[in-house]
Formats: sequence, C-alpha cells, structure tokens
Amino acid sequence: MYVEFFKKRCEKCNNLLTADRDFFDNGTKFCKCGETVLRSPSQALRICYNCKCRLIYNNEPCCPECGTPFLPDNSQLPDQIKEEIYRDAHEILDTKFVREGDVIRAKMLYLSIPKYKDSSFCVKDCDKKVADLKYSVIYYKAGVKVISAREMYRDACRTDYARKVEDAVVLLKDARQIFSTITAYEDSAQRVEECEKLIAEYTATADRFNKEKEKKDKRLQRGEVMKKVKIGGMIAFGLFCIGMYAFFRYFA
Ligand SMILES: [Zn+2]
Ligand SMILES: [Zn+2]
Repeated sequence: MYVEFFKKRCEKCNNLLTADRDFFDNGTKFCKCGETVLRSPSQALRICYNCKCRLIYNNEPCCPECGTPFLPDNSQLPDQIKEEIYRDAHEILDTKFVREGDVIRAKMLYLSIPKYKDSSFCVKDCDKKVADLKYSVIYYKAGVKVISAREMYRDACRTDYARKVEDAVVLLKDARQIFSTITAYEDSAQRVEECEKLIAEYTATADRFNKEKEKKDKRLQRGEVMKKVKIGGMIAFGLFCIGMYAFFRYFA
C-alpha cells in the first residue's frame, strides 16, 4: 500500500497532487499555484480498478492517472479490488506508530467499500482510534505537568521555598483540569484524584513553609530591635560616662 496512490486535484490550477501523510495529518496541502488544498470533510474516494489510483472527492469520470473510466459507484468494483482496499486499510492500521492521518486514510478506504465484510464496523473503529490518539496527546501533556510539579516540589522542599511549592500547585491544577476533560480515557479519572491529593498535600506544605518564614522574619525583626536597643544603651552609657567625667573634673 502506497500513500502515493492517493490523489487530490487542486481546484484552482487543476494540478493533480499526491495526498501524502502530512496532508492526511494536517488536512491541508499547499499547491505550487499558491492555493491551499483542503481535505474534504466527506472524504469520498473514487477508485481506479486499473491502476489503483485513489482520487479524493472528485466528480471526474475517468482516472486522472491512466484514463480508465471510473465505475459509477465504488460498490460496483470487483470483490478482488474491494479485498485489496480492505487489506490496505488494515495494513495502514497495523503499522507501528500510527498517526492520526494514517487512521483517516484507512477510514477513507473502509468508507469506499461500505458493505464489504465488516468495513462499516472498521469505520467506527477508526473514529474511536482518532479520538484515542487525540486523547493520548492531551493525556501526555497533562502527565508531563504532574511530573514537573513533583520535581518542583522536591526542589522546593530542599530549600523550604514556599513560592516554588505554590508554582507546583498551579501546574497540578492545570493537569487536574486537563485530565477532567478526558475522564473516559485510560486512567484519567484516577489521575484527577491523584492531582487533588497532591494539591492538598502541596498546599499544606506551602502553608507550613510560609508560617515558618513568618516566624523567622519575626525573629529577625526582634533581633534587629534588640541590636538597636543595645547600641542605644551603649551610646547612653558613653554619654553618661562623659558627663560624669566632666562633672568630677569640674567639681573635684
Ligand atoms: Zn494549484
Ligand atoms: Zn487509473
């Protein structure tokens, strides 16, 4: 199965473009003429039973590659071709590191043979896979936030730095919010609980650090006052001595 078999015509310059992996991933492709070619939402395929060319969403009567007339309907394709399409779709999904665009490509193939084998079930499965892939990206992002928060917290505990703990709490709140949008995916619901537990724990630690810092500040302030009192006392004593000295010099 080659992705080169997927073609899409630019409506502006009429050039035939290869619908490559990026096109399926992004849903767009730039044509040399400057036009942005969009993946059509209905994503219908016309299939040439002669050269296997798969043309996306077009009303052309003939295969643009080999000129063979298209059958009025994909459902009229011989079973052998349908089987090939069916297998190609499976092959796409069986490869390692399947991307969203791959699943969309496979789905288009299943859609082009609607009543063949379990293709309609496979279409639904593709929809689920696309959703899963989307969720997995979101899930991963939230997971990274939790890891960063944990690291921040460890650092902060070494230095008793409350601000850093508070920053970690902000990250955890973000992660909790993200996980809560995908609770049906994997263990996201548990991850929400995990975040809540950590938020409570970290908030308590931040409070403790803040209180300790307050105490320390007060102690320092008191120290400063005592220092001033001492210096004041010494000056007063010095003045007293000078006074006494002068007094005795004068009267004695
Ligand atoms: Zn063009
Ligand atoms: Zn052809």
